Amino acid sequence: MAEIRIVRIPLRFANSYLVIGERTIIVDSGDPGFSQGILKAMEKNEVKKTDISLIFITHGHVDHYGSVFELRRKIEAPIAIHRLDALYLNQGVQAPLYPLNSIAGAIKLVGKHLKVKKRYGIEADIEFKQKLELEEFGVKGLILPTPGHTLGSASLFLPNGRAITGDLIVRQYLFRGKPRCAPFLHDRSKFIKSMNILKGRGVKTIYPGHGAPINTSDIITS
Ligand SMILES: [Zn+2]
Repeated sequence: MAEIRIVRIPLRFANSYLVIGERTIIVDSGDPGFSQGILKAMEKNEVKKTDISLIFITHGHVDHYGSVFELRRKIEAPIAIHRLDALYLNQGVQAPLYPLNSIAGAIKLVGKHLKVKKRYGIEADIEFKQKLELEEFGVKGLILPTPGHTLGSASLFLPNGRAITGDLIVRQYLFRGKPRCAPFLHDRSKFIKSMNILKGRGVKTIYPGHGAPINTSDIITS
């Protein structure tokens, strides 16, 4: 099997990714109105709509799933999200925000009210609980729950120590600064367990929900 290629698609604030193996998985979709950016990146990388086998959403925040409905109308592939965050996507609302500091607290005042109105009756197709093997979707990889930021957050693990982790780890100022635990954290003990899963699986490079890839050795754990 050829080396799996990860293409990062920066969409204003959040990243979407193409995971290109024998077939292609789209990870996250950005805010509402950004499906075109994903389609353009597909074209540039010679990925056809029929190559897409799965649309995986890392967690139930609008900046990560907002465009999934418009995307799903253009691409015939199932949407997968962890069972515990599926209800937010299905209702087009924000998963609860638990701010760790005053800046995050201020963001919450606006962010908690965000909604996706145009959903065209589309909901998640796959609501997984324990894990989702990706072999049947044409990619040698695995999705596992990595809760903490939200209770239904999950990550996609790939060979050679790579993982796409949503908002498990973000930089202090989103696009710059030291990478650390996201400033919104629902459950710290679950976050610590999730970081141990990354460690246990030998993850060296994280592809975060915002900004450029991160070396796990640069993460501040305190
Ligand atoms: Zn988030």
